[in-house]
Amino acid sequence: MRKLASLFGLLVLTGLAAPALAGKTRNVVLIVSDGLRWQEVFQGADPLLLDAKVGGNWVADDDLKKRYWRATPQERRQVIFPFLWGTVARQGQIFGNRTEGSDAHVTNGKAFSYPGYNEMSVGYPNPAINSNEFGPNPDATVFEWLNAAPELAGHVAVYGTWQAYYDIFNQKRSHLIVQAGWTPPVKTGDASKDALFNRLYETTTRFDEEDVGNSFVQVGLLDYVRTAQPRVLFVGYGETDNWAHQGRYDLVLESAHRTDAFIKELWDTMQAMPQYRGTTTFIITADHGRGSGPVEWKEHGVEEKGSENVWIAVMGPDTAALGERKHVEAVTQAQIAATVAALMGKDYVKDVPEAAPPIKNVLGKGQ
Ligand SMILES: [Zn+2]
Repeated sequence: MRKLASLFGLLVLTGLAAPALAGKTRNVVLIVSDGLRWQEVFQGADPLLLDAKVGGNWVADDDLKKRYWRATPQERRQVIFPFLWGTVARQGQIFGNRTEGSDAHVTNGKAFSYPGYNEMSVGYPNPAINSNEFGPNPDATVFEWLNAAPELAGHVAVYGTWQAYYDIFNQKRSHLIVQAGWTPPVKTGDASKDALFNRLYETTTRFDEEDVGNSFVQVGLLDYVRTAQPRVLFVGYGETDNWAHQGRYDLVLESAHRTDAFIKELWDTMQAMPQYRGTTTFIITADHGRGSGPVEWKEHGVEEKGSENVWIAVMGPDTAALGERKHVEAVTQAQIAATVAALMGKDYVKDVPEAAPPIKNVLGKGQ
């Protein structure tokens, strides 16, 4: 009896110490739209870049404006991102509108891709990572850390357009399930589908050797979710960054719009499955921002001012529906790793003290 009483006391104490760790979330998906600026996310199409010359647009001005220009920033962002603003921002929270006193930024001081994916998934920046060709990540990501938990082992996966994810998530060491870049996808068991899919991988002209199109990843991802039912998932969509580097603002808007639709499709697919319904949290973000103005919008890094600024959206059963956050404490990219873990009921910082703490505003709804 005394033993039971003290055990009960311990449980109460543990509960008090970490209320955020006892939520309803059983599955977490971290989604990145590479290099998608906070400016488009909160303000919609940039009027400066709707000009054919400055924006490098092939779509005619009138047509592009018909698609993406509206009178207010609220209408403009809604037309590009109907799911992010119609669903995620209503049922969850979104940080990073600098014009409304909400700051979300990277702390790696580099503002390009590998340092960004490393920071968000490891929980702290590594100054040694100074190139996208850095090679295998010496640090373990929160995905590798979660995959070591017996109940999650084999249920943690990475799906993305960029070949470098094999190195960033150190697939050789972590043994995570990774499907990325132009690596041919694993067989689905449906022979005609596999043949078609392989043919497309083999015969499509490559935009570059490192990046497959978002639509290729989406097909394999939905199959994988339906059949393998992962608990923790990373999804990386690369097109928004690639089209900006090409100086094609019309295609930045188009791919941002399609990425929003892919995220909706993934959410709807998962919510239709009993394993995920009401127990799944999405975190949606970018690995870095970009410059602004008539030239610097195309690139990002220390040279392009403002590239450190990003945005972070969260929606799920443990996140209060506070919508677009205004005049709120700053959040950082480094906090994402511990937030993923906390949503899964785990204390990452206890094990990895260098990691930034979770974003407490998105945890422990109603507590
Ligand atoms: Zn880039």
